[in-house]
Amino acid sequence: MAEAKLIDGKAHAMALRARVGKGVAELFSAKGVKPGLATVLVDGDPASQVYVKSKGRAAAELGMASFDHRLPGSTTEQELLQLIATLNTDTTVHGILVQLPLPPHIHTERVLQAVNPDKDVDGFHPMNVGRLGSIAAGLPLDFPVPCTPLGCSMLLADALGSLRGSNAVVVGRSTLVGRPVAQLLLRADCTVTIAHSRTRDLPAVCRGADILVVAIGKPSFVRGDWIKPGAAVIDVGINRVPTGDGKSKLVGDVAFDEARQVAGHLTPVPGGVGPMTVACLMYNTLQEARRKVGLPFAAV
Ligand code: NAP
Repeated sequence: MAEAKLIDGKAHAMALRARVGKGVAELFSAKGVKPGLATVLVDGDPASQVYVKSKGRAAAELGMASFDHRLPGSTTEQELLQLIATLNTDTTVHGILVQLPLPPHIHTERVLQAVNPDKDVDGFHPMNVGRLGSIAAGLPLDFPVPCTPLGCSMLLADALGSLRGSNAVVVGRSTLVGRPVAQLLLRADCTVTIAHSRTRDLPAVCRGADILVVAIGKPSFVRGDWIKPGAAVIDVGINRVPTGDGKSKLVGDVAFDEARQVAGHLTPVPGGVGPMTVACLMYNTLQEARRKVGLPFAAV
Protein backbone atom coordinates (compact mmCIF):
# COMPACT_ATOMS: atom_id res chain seq x y z
CA MET A 1 0.00 0.00 0.00
CA ALA A 2 1.17 3.52 -0.77
CA GLU A 3 2.39 5.72 2.05
CA ALA A 4 -0.08 8.09 3.65
CA LYS A 5 -0.51 11.48 2.10
CA LEU A 6 0.85 13.99 4.59
CA ILE A 7 -1.50 16.84 5.44
CA ASP A 8 0.63 19.97 5.40
CA GLY A 9 -0.81 22.03 8.24
CA LYS A 10 1.80 24.72 7.79
CA ALA A 11 0.75 25.33 4.18
CA HIS A 12 -2.95 25.22 5.12
CA ALA A 13 -2.37 27.66 7.95
CA MET A 14 -0.44 30.04 5.69
CA ALA A 15 -3.26 29.95 3.15
CA LEU A 16 -5.88 30.56 5.85
CA ARG A 17 -3.84 33.44 7.25
CA ALA A 18 -3.60 34.98 3.79
CA ARG A 19 -7.38 34.77 3.40
CA VAL A 20 -7.91 36.27 6.86
CA GLY A 21 -5.47 39.07 6.02
CA LYS A 22 -7.49 39.81 2.90
CA GLY A 23 -10.69 39.78 4.97
CA VAL A 24 -9.12 42.22 7.45
CA ALA A 25 -8.19 44.63 4.65
CA GLU A 26 -11.67 44.36 3.11
CA LEU A 27 -13.35 45.02 6.45
CA PHE A 28 -11.19 48.06 7.02
CA SER A 29 -11.85 49.53 3.60
CA ALA A 30 -15.62 48.82 3.80
CA LYS A 31 -16.28 49.78 7.41
CA GLY A 32 -13.12 51.45 8.73
CA VAL A 33 -12.85 48.75 11.39
CA LYS A 34 -9.61 47.04 12.34
CA PRO A 35 -10.11 43.72 14.16
CA GLY A 36 -8.47 43.87 17.59
CA LEU A 37 -7.19 40.92 19.60
CA ALA A 38 -6.38 41.27 23.32
CA THR A 39 -4.21 38.59 24.86
CA VAL A 40 -4.04 38.18 28.62
CA LEU A 41 -1.26 36.25 30.27
CA VAL A 42 -0.95 35.87 34.05
CA ASP A 43 2.49 34.78 35.21
CA GLY A 44 2.96 32.56 32.17
CA ASP A 45 5.47 29.74 31.92
CA PRO A 46 7.99 30.04 29.05
CA ALA A 47 5.76 27.99 26.68
CA SER A 48 2.75 30.24 27.36
CA GLN A 49 4.89 33.32 26.80
CA VAL A 50 5.96 31.97 23.42
CA TYR A 51 2.34 31.16 22.46
CA VAL A 52 1.06 34.60 23.45
CA LYS A 53 3.89 36.32 21.61
CA SER A 54 3.20 34.33 18.45
CA LYS A 55 -0.51 35.21 18.62
CA GLY A 56 0.22 38.91 18.97
CA ARG A 57 2.71 38.75 16.13
CA ALA A 58 0.28 36.91 13.86
CA ALA A 59 -2.42 39.50 14.55
CA ALA A 60 -0.08 42.36 13.69
CA GLU A 61 1.09 40.60 10.50
CA LEU A 62 -2.52 40.34 9.31
CA GLY A 63 -3.20 44.02 9.91
CA MET A 64 -5.11 43.53 13.16
CA ALA A 65 -4.60 45.54 16.32
CA SER A 66 -3.07 43.52 19.11
CA PHE A 67 -3.20 44.37 22.81
CA ASP A 68 -0.83 42.43 24.99
CA HIS A 69 -1.67 42.28 28.72
CA ARG A 70 0.95 40.59 30.89
CA LEU A 71 0.10 40.42 34.55
CA PRO A 72 2.31 39.31 37.44
CA GLY A 73 1.70 36.11 39.40
CA SER A 74 0.49 38.23 42.33
CA THR A 75 -2.57 39.36 40.29
CA THR A 76 -5.78 38.58 42.16
CA GLU A 77 -8.82 37.05 40.51
CA GLN A 78 -10.68 40.30 41.13
CA GLU A 79 -8.00 42.29 39.28
CA LEU A 80 -8.11 39.89 36.36
CA LEU A 81 -11.91 40.06 36.23
CA GLN A 82 -11.67 43.85 36.26
CA LEU A 83 -9.32 43.79 33.25
CA ILE A 84 -11.70 41.47 31.39
CA ALA A 85 -14.63 43.76 32.18
CA THR A 86 -12.66 46.66 30.68
CA LEU A 87 -11.79 44.65 27.56
CA ASN A 88 -15.43 43.55 27.22
CA THR A 89 -16.51 47.16 26.81
CA ASP A 90 -13.51 48.34 24.76
CA THR A 91 -14.84 48.85 21.22
CA THR A 92 -11.38 48.42 19.68
CA VAL A 93 -11.16 44.88 21.08
CA HIS A 94 -13.07 42.18 19.15
CA GLY A 95 -11.40 39.13 20.58
CA ILE A 96 -10.16 38.33 24.09
CA LEU A 97 -7.84 35.43 24.69
CA VAL A 98 -6.96 34.43 28.24
CA GLN A 99 -3.94 32.17 28.03
CA LEU A 100 -4.35 28.98 30.05
CA PRO A 101 -3.35 27.63 32.46
CA LEU A 102 -4.06 30.36 35.00
CA PRO A 103 -2.28 30.28 38.37
CA PRO A 104 -3.99 28.01 40.93
CA HIS A 105 -5.34 30.89 43.06
CA ILE A 106 -7.50 32.03 40.12
CA HIS A 107 -10.71 30.18 39.30
CA THR A 108 -10.41 29.40 35.58
CA GLU A 109 -14.13 28.81 34.99
CA ARG A 110 -15.11 32.12 36.59
CA VAL A 111 -12.62 33.95 34.39
CA LEU A 112 -13.71 32.22 31.17
CA GLN A 113 -17.34 32.95 32.00
CA ALA A 114 -16.52 36.63 32.48
CA VAL A 115 -15.42 37.03 28.85
CA ASN A 116 -18.16 38.47 26.64
CA PRO A 117 -19.31 35.43 24.57
CA ASP A 118 -19.15 37.61 21.43
CA LYS A 119 -15.46 38.30 22.09
CA ASP A 120 -14.66 34.73 23.16
CA VAL A 121 -12.31 33.90 20.28
CA ASP A 122 -11.14 30.75 22.08
CA GLY A 123 -14.70 29.39 22.12
CA PHE A 124 -14.44 28.37 25.78
CA HIS A 125 -17.35 30.41 27.18
CA PRO A 126 -20.19 28.09 28.31
CA MET A 127 -22.55 29.83 25.89
CA ASN A 128 -20.32 28.97 22.93
CA VAL A 129 -19.69 25.47 24.28
CA GLY A 130 -23.48 25.07 24.39
CA ARG A 131 -23.93 26.48 20.89
CA LEU A 132 -21.47 23.95 19.51
CA GLY A 133 -23.10 21.16 21.52
CA SER A 134 -26.55 21.91 20.14
CA ILE A 135 -25.86 22.89 16.52
CA ALA A 136 -27.76 20.86 13.95
CA ALA A 137 -25.83 19.00 11.26
CA GLY A 138 -24.75 21.18 8.38
CA LEU A 139 -25.80 24.51 9.90
CA PRO A 140 -23.20 27.26 9.60
CA LEU A 141 -20.89 27.97 12.50
CA ASP A 142 -21.81 31.57 13.32
CA PHE A 143 -20.15 31.65 16.73
CA PRO A 144 -16.57 31.13 17.89
CA VAL A 145 -15.38 27.52 17.95
CA PRO A 146 -12.22 26.42 19.83
CA CYS A 147 -9.26 27.00 17.55
CA THR A 148 -7.46 23.64 17.56
CA PRO A 149 -10.66 21.63 16.92
CA LEU A 150 -11.68 24.09 14.21
CA GLY A 151 -8.24 23.63 12.64
CA CYS A 152 -8.65 19.82 12.73
CA SER A 153 -12.03 20.02 11.00
CA MET A 154 -10.69 22.38 8.33
CA LEU A 155 -7.77 20.04 7.60
CA LEU A 156 -10.13 17.07 7.32
CA ALA A 157 -12.55 18.91 5.06
CA ASP A 158 -9.69 19.98 2.80
CA ALA A 159 -8.20 16.49 2.66
CA LEU A 160 -11.40 14.46 2.29
CA GLY A 161 -14.14 16.77 1.05
CA SER A 162 -17.40 15.49 2.49
CA LEU A 163 -17.09 13.58 5.78
CA ARG A 164 -20.71 12.41 5.63
CA GLY A 165 -21.30 8.91 6.95
CA SER A 166 -17.67 8.36 7.98
CA ASN A 167 -16.94 6.50 11.18
CA ALA A 168 -14.92 8.93 13.27
CA VAL A 169 -13.12 8.05 16.48
CA VAL A 170 -11.80 10.84 18.69
CA VAL A 171 -9.34 9.64 21.32
CA GLY A 172 -9.39 12.14 24.21
CA ARG A 173 -12.41 13.84 25.79
CA SER A 174 -10.96 17.14 27.03
CA THR A 175 -13.13 20.23 26.85
CA LEU A 176 -10.31 21.98 24.96
CA VAL A 177 -9.84 19.45 22.18
CA GLY A 178 -11.56 16.05 22.19
CA ARG A 179 -15.15 17.10 22.89
CA PRO A 180 -15.31 20.05 20.48
CA VAL A 181 -13.62 17.96 17.76
CA ALA A 182 -16.30 15.32 18.26
CA GLN A 183 -19.08 17.94 18.03
CA LEU A 184 -17.63 19.31 14.80
CA LEU A 185 -17.44 15.82 13.30
CA LEU A 186 -21.02 15.13 14.33
CA ARG A 187 -22.07 18.38 12.64
CA ALA A 188 -20.28 17.10 9.52
CA ASP A 189 -22.51 13.98 9.60
CA CYS A 190 -19.87 11.55 10.89
CA THR A 191 -20.80 8.70 13.20
CA VAL A 192 -18.69 9.65 16.19
CA THR A 193 -17.15 7.62 18.98
CA ILE A 194 -15.30 9.41 21.78
CA ALA A 195 -12.65 7.25 23.45
CA HIS A 196 -10.72 8.03 26.63
CA SER A 197 -8.50 6.48 29.27
CA ARG A 198 -11.25 4.09 30.43
CA THR A 199 -12.18 2.86 26.96
CA ARG A 200 -12.04 -0.92 26.67
CA ASP A 201 -9.84 -2.32 23.88
CA LEU A 202 -8.85 1.04 22.45
CA PRO A 203 -6.91 -0.51 19.54
CA ALA A 204 -10.07 -2.28 18.33
CA VAL A 205 -12.11 0.93 18.67
CA CYS A 206 -9.51 2.84 16.66
CA ARG A 207 -9.44 0.16 13.95
CA GLY A 208 -13.07 0.97 13.16
CA ALA A 209 -12.25 4.57 12.30
CA ASP A 210 -12.32 6.06 8.82
CA ILE A 211 -11.27 9.26 10.60
CA LEU A 212 -9.09 9.00 13.69
CA VAL A 213 -8.35 12.11 15.75
CA VAL A 214 -5.95 11.61 18.64
CA ALA A 215 -5.56 14.18 21.43
CA ILE A 216 -4.24 12.52 24.57
CA GLY A 217 -0.75 13.89 25.27
CA LYS A 218 1.08 10.54 25.19
CA PRO A 219 4.04 10.28 22.81
CA SER A 220 3.59 7.83 19.91
CA PHE A 221 0.83 6.03 21.82
CA VAL A 222 -1.38 5.03 18.89
CA ARG A 223 0.37 2.32 16.90
CA GLY A 224 0.26 1.55 13.22
CA ASP A 225 -1.74 -1.66 13.66
CA TRP A 226 -4.51 0.32 15.43
CA ILE A 227 -5.21 2.17 12.20
CA LYS A 228 -7.64 1.07 9.51
CA PRO A 229 -5.86 0.99 6.13
CA GLY A 230 -6.57 4.22 4.27
CA ALA A 231 -7.94 6.08 7.32
CA ALA A 232 -7.39 9.81 7.78
CA VAL A 233 -5.40 10.36 10.98
CA ILE A 234 -5.21 13.72 12.71
CA ASP A 235 -2.55 13.79 15.41
CA VAL A 236 -3.21 16.67 17.83
CA GLY A 237 -0.61 15.64 20.40
CA ILE A 238 2.47 17.71 21.07
CA ASN A 239 5.00 15.90 23.23
CA ARG A 240 8.64 16.74 23.84
CA VAL A 241 10.77 13.62 24.13
CA PRO A 242 14.52 13.22 24.74
CA THR A 243 16.55 12.03 21.73
CA GLY A 244 19.32 10.53 23.84
CA ASP A 245 22.02 13.02 22.84
CA GLY A 246 21.03 15.55 25.49
CA LYS A 247 18.58 17.10 23.04
CA SER A 248 14.86 16.65 22.52
CA LYS A 249 12.28 16.69 19.75
CA LEU A 250 8.55 17.08 19.33
CA VAL A 251 6.42 14.03 18.55
CA GLY A 252 2.69 13.48 18.35
CA ASP A 253 0.39 10.97 20.03
CA VAL A 254 0.59 8.67 16.99
CA ALA A 255 3.60 6.51 16.10
CA PHE A 256 4.32 8.46 12.93
CA ASP A 257 6.53 6.03 10.97
CA GLU A 258 4.13 3.14 11.58
CA ALA A 259 1.02 5.19 10.85
CA ARG A 260 2.49 6.44 7.61
CA GLN A 261 2.57 2.89 6.25
CA VAL A 262 -1.14 2.33 6.89
CA ALA A 263 -3.10 5.59 6.89
CA GLY A 264 -4.48 7.31 3.81
CA HIS A 265 -3.90 10.81 5.19
CA LEU A 266 -1.79 11.80 8.18
CA THR A 267 -0.81 15.03 9.93
CA PRO A 268 2.85 15.26 10.93
CA VAL A 269 4.06 16.66 14.25
CA PRO A 270 5.31 19.33 14.10
CA GLY A 271 3.75 20.98 11.05
CA GLY A 272 0.28 19.44 11.19
CA VAL A 273 -2.48 20.66 13.49
CA GLY A 274 -0.24 23.03 15.47
CA PRO A 275 0.06 25.86 12.91
CA MET A 276 -3.71 25.80 12.32
CA THR A 277 -4.44 26.83 15.91
CA VAL A 278 -3.09 30.37 15.64
CA ALA A 279 -4.51 30.77 12.12
CA CYS A 280 -7.97 29.82 13.44
CA LEU A 281 -7.61 32.31 16.27
CA MET A 282 -7.08 35.02 13.66
CA TYR A 283 -10.07 33.67 11.74
CA ASN A 284 -12.27 33.86 14.86
CA THR A 285 -11.10 37.40 15.61
CA LEU A 286 -11.94 38.56 12.10
CA GLN A 287 -15.38 36.95 12.35
CA GLU A 288 -16.13 38.70 15.65
CA ALA A 289 -15.09 42.04 14.17
CA ARG A 290 -17.41 41.38 11.21
CA ARG A 291 -20.26 40.51 13.55
CA LYS A 292 -19.73 43.76 15.47
CA VAL A 293 -20.47 45.80 12.35
CA GLY A 294 -23.46 43.67 11.38
CA LEU A 295 -21.75 41.45 8.80
CA PRO A 296 -22.32 37.69 8.94
CA PHE A 297 -19.68 35.11 9.70
CA ALA A 298 -18.19 34.37 6.30
CA ALA A 299 -16.11 31.49 5.02
CA VAL A 300 -12.74 33.01 4.13
P1 NAP B 1 -5.89 16.62 28.39
O1 NAP B 1 -6.78 17.69 28.87
O2 NAP B 1 -4.82 16.11 29.29
O3 NAP B 1 -6.82 15.39 27.96
C1 NAP B 1 -6.24 14.20 27.57
C2 NAP B 1 -7.34 13.22 27.19
O4 NAP B 1 -6.69 12.04 26.75
C3 NAP B 1 -8.27 12.85 28.34
O5 NAP B 1 -9.60 12.81 27.90
C4 NAP B 1 -7.79 11.45 28.73
O6 NAP B 1 -8.80 10.59 29.16
C5 NAP B 1 -7.27 10.93 27.41
N1 NAP B 1 -6.26 9.91 27.65
C6 NAP B 1 -5.16 10.00 28.41
N2 NAP B 1 -4.49 8.84 28.41
C7 NAP B 1 -5.20 8.00 27.63
C8 NAP B 1 -5.03 6.65 27.25
N3 NAP B 1 -4.00 5.93 27.70
N4 NAP B 1 -5.94 6.10 26.44
C9 NAP B 1 -7.00 6.81 25.99
N5 NAP B 1 -7.21 8.10 26.32
C10 NAP B 1 -6.31 8.68 27.13
O7 NAP B 1 -5.15 17.04 27.05
P2 NAP B 1 -5.62 18.04 25.88
O8 NAP B 1 -5.57 19.45 26.35
O9 NAP B 1 -6.84 17.54 25.25
O10 NAP B 1 -4.37 17.86 24.89
C11 NAP B 1 -4.10 16.62 24.30
C12 NAP B 1 -2.82 16.73 23.48
O11 NAP B 1 -3.03 17.71 22.46
C13 NAP B 1 -1.60 17.23 24.25
O12 NAP B 1 -0.45 16.60 23.72
C14 NAP B 1 -1.54 18.70 23.95
O13 NAP B 1 -0.23 19.23 24.03
C15 NAP B 1 -2.01 18.70 22.52
N6 NAP B 1 -2.60 19.97 22.08
C16 NAP B 1 -2.18 20.47 20.90
C17 NAP B 1 -2.69 21.65 20.42
C18 NAP B 1 -2.23 22.17 19.11
O14 NAP B 1 -2.31 23.36 18.84
N7 NAP B 1 -1.76 21.29 18.23
C19 NAP B 1 -3.64 22.35 21.16
C20 NAP B 1 -4.10 21.79 22.37
C21 NAP B 1 -3.57 20.59 22.82
P3 NAP B 1 -9.60 10.80 30.55
O15 NAP B 1 -10.58 11.89 30.28
O16 NAP B 1 -10.22 9.49 30.77
O17 NAP B 1 -8.57 11.18 31.58
